[in-house]
Amino acid sequence: MALIITDDCINCDVCEPECPNEAISMGPEIYVIDPNKCTECVGHFDEPQCQQVCPVECIPRDPNRLETREVLMQRYRLLTAAKQAA
Ligand code: SF4
Ligand code: SF4
Repeated sequence: MALIITDDCINCDVCEPECPNEAISMGPEIYVIDPNKCTECVGHFDEPQCQQVCPVECIPRDPNRLETREVLMQRYRLLTAAKQAA
């Protein structure tokens, strides 16, 4: 699963620099997560870093994006390869 930021977000800015995949950015009103870049931090950390730092706990797993650890690891590999090619 990718994670999703709910409208409880207070735009505190602390999650964005913590994401190893640069999946978090400011949206029209609140911060948003690009689900195609979020690996739930698989490949980088044991726990989702954005969840760890969010002061209002508004970053749950997105129930509409059910993904296995293998899918998340595959995304990590693709993102890492793209970064190295850049
Ligand atoms: S779980 Fe990890 S990869 Fe996904 S948005 Fe949060 S910090 Fe980024
Ligand atoms: S840490 Fe939480 S409250 Fe702060 S910007 Fe990120 S999602 Fe919003």
